[in-house]
Formats: sequence, structure tokens, C-alpha cells
Amino acid sequence: MTITRADLAALDRDDPLAPLRDLFALPDGVIYLDGNSLGALPRATPARVAQVVREEWGSGLIRSWNDAGWMAAPARVGDKIAQLVGAAPGSVMVADSTSVNLFKLLGAALAARPDRRAILSERGNFPTDLYIAEGLAALLDRGHQLRLAEPDAIAAALDPDVAVLMLTHVNYHTGALHDMAALTRAAHAQGALVLWDLAHSAGAVPVDLAGCDADLAVGCGYKFLNGGPGAPAFLYVAPRLHEALRLPLTGWLGHAAPFAFEPGYRPAPGIARALVGTPPMLSLAALEVGVDIALQAPMAAVRAKSQQQTTLFAALLEQIAGTWGARLASPRDAARRGSQVCLAHDQAYPIMQALIARGVIGDFRAPDILRFGITPLYTRYVDLWDAAAALGEVMARGEWQEARFQVRLAVT
Ligand SMILES: *Cc1c(COP(=O)(O)O)cnc(C)c1O
Repeated sequence: MTITRADLAALDRDDPLAPLRDLFALPDGVIYLDGNSLGALPRATPARVAQVVREEWGSGLIRSWNDAGWMAAPARVGDKIAQLVGAAPGSVMVADSTSVNLFKLLGAALAARPDRRAILSERGNFPTDLYIAEGLAALLDRGHQLRLAEPDAIAAALDPDVAVLMLTHVNYHTGALHDMAALTRAAHAQGALVLWDLAHSAGAVPVDLAGCDADLAVGCGYKFLNGGPGAPAFLYVAPRLHEALRLPLTGWLGHAAPFAFEPGYRPAPGIARALVGTPPMLSLAALEVGVDIALQAPMAAVRAKSQQQTTLFAALLEQIAGTWGARLASPRDAARRGSQVCLAHDQAYPIMQALIARGVIGDFRAPDILRFGITPLYTRYVDLWDAAAALGEVMARGEWQEARFQVRLAVT
């Protein structure tokens, strides 16, 4: 069946999420397919950040920690994110970066399983997750090993020496989606804790942390939550673990009484112990705008659109871009895929650069991946047609061979 641009325009007309696009300030002439790396700017963000700067900081000064709700903001925004990831109120905190939160929760998990020595993960996991595990094992110097398995062999690699199974729900490289419920069950059957990285899930695919009985999770504020560059991240701890868990970064804001200025550390009750230092209010205010938008979109509708868009885009890439030696690197089954489509090609880097020069923005992931993120809140169906057509021209005309597209930039 041939898909036409008119078919896609009709889908846009019938799309219940289409009005949400107006909440974003997307530049003219750009098709943005990289919201899984840096989400787009919500229209309300500049005014909100300006208000925090001018009024809350400028006029309120230090009084704003109380009067403008600054001190309560990490838990307040955490409770909003909790609604997006199937977590109970009081179990999600906004803090630090994803990498730092991985360190905190991995450290707590290893301390909770003192007689076990393995951290199990996926070989193709995002490098920061693996690097943090490596660094923590070296710091502890108690013989912890990072054990890596291929995605289909993870359950089989679980045994009674695994302290924690650390997985990214949606793989950054391929978009492959793990079965959170099944893998959490398998890990628990071996007595291991499970730490889920939701960087490519929160705001994009349904997540049910409580329903899956997950132990721990981290996630990213600047991808599908549209919180802005370097937005603070979040972390989740199952309520049943709150009182037992000992986090390795014991800062004053995670203390039971920060303003008592006691010399010794006592953890705050509940998720509040996951705070370390003073929250970054400007970026936290921006994150809250993005999260509020995500809460307006029913997750079932987001997932349905995402699955339809990734399926159509994969088909269009094959239909329009034709046969030029690329292969689909994402799962063909939409149920096993997050909100992205990836192609593998040995010239992926210059091809993506040439595509970006035409205003179609995706990204390149070494060694050979062209990655296209779909954000159902603002990606239109016709965008998929136009992006695939642009890619077809880049290939047909050999544009990617131009010298300027061969130069590797620092951020790909
Ligand atoms: C984007 C991403 C991160 C980012 O970590 P930062 O500390 O924010 O740089 C971590 N893990 C995964 C799986 C990611 O995709």
C-alpha cells in the first residue's frame, strides 16, 4: 500500500493531540525529530523563567524559598512526574542529573544487598549508566562486577549474586523497549533489586512503576518532558523501601532537619532523603512548565499516536528513501519500540548532517545510527512525509558527500 502526503494530512486533521503543538515555540522551516535528546521549548517557558528571575529572585530574594514555594518545588514537580510514570505521590523527587541519581540509587542498592557482587545490565545500555556502575564498583573496592548481557539474555543472566538489575526501559540506540513487568519479576525471583532508567520513557511511553513493583528508577527532565537543556532529573524509590534505603550522597537537604544545622547526618523521612543540595530553581521552573504540558495529554493517546507515527515513518523511509543500503535498526513491532525510529547506514554521520542542513533535525549515534525521535505532543504526520522526502533527496543527489558534512562536531 502506498502512503500519500494527503493521507498524512488527513491523520493530522483527525489527531486529538494536534492542538498541543501550539503550546510549543517551534522554529519555522524546521522539522524537529530530536525531542528524545532535547525537547522543544514550550511557549510558556520564557515568561515563567522571567517571572522567577525578576519577581521571585529579584524582588522576593531569599524570602522566595518559603514564599514562592521554592523549597517545596522538587517534591511538587516530583509528584507531577509520578503521575506520568505510574508512581504514588511522595515517591518521586526532582534532583541532580540522571547520572548523579544513578550513582545515588545504585549505591543504595548495593548497600541493601551487601552479600552480592554483581550489577547486571545490558551491553548496549547508555554509556553513562555503565560508567557510573564502573566508577561506583571501583570506589567501593569490594569486588563488585558489572555484568553485561545482550537484551534477550538478561533474564538468563540473573542469579543469586546479582544485587541489582540496572536497565534502560527504552534503548537510546535502537528504541527497543524492555518488558518492565516481566524483567522486574524475574529479578525479584532471584532476590535482586531493579533500577529502571526512564530517560527515553517518561512522557513518551506508558510506565507503571508501582504496577510493575519496580524498586528504583531515574529519568531525564530535558528529553520528552521538555524541561530545557540540563533540566534537573528525577528519581523514584518504591515506598516500601523508603525507610531502609541508605543513599551514598548525604547532603544537607536530605537531612531530617536541614535548618537545625546538626553536625551529624540523619536521613529525612521518605523520598526527601534523596535530595542532596540546593535545587536549581531557574531550570526547575522551566521543567515544571514542560511537565504540566505532558500532564494535559492522556498517555494512551500519546502512545497510540507514537506507535502509529513510528510505524508510518519506518514505512515511509523504505518507500521514499528507497534502496540505498540502510536498514531499519529499530524493532519492527510497534509494541516493542519506544518513540523513535533508527536507521543504520555506514555513512550515517554525513547523511544526518546533510539532512539537518535541509531543516530536518534528527541525530547521529555512533557508529552508524540515524536516529529520529517522535514527540507526539508536537510531531505532525505530514512532518514524517516531508522528513522522509528530504532524506530521499539527500541520498538521490548525493548531498551527504559534500566536504562540509564530513566534519565531526563535538555534539552529534
Ligand atoms: C539521556 C540519558 C542520560 C542522561 O544523563 P545526564 O546525566 O542527564 O547527562 C542517562 N541515561 C540515559 C539512558 C539517557 O538516555
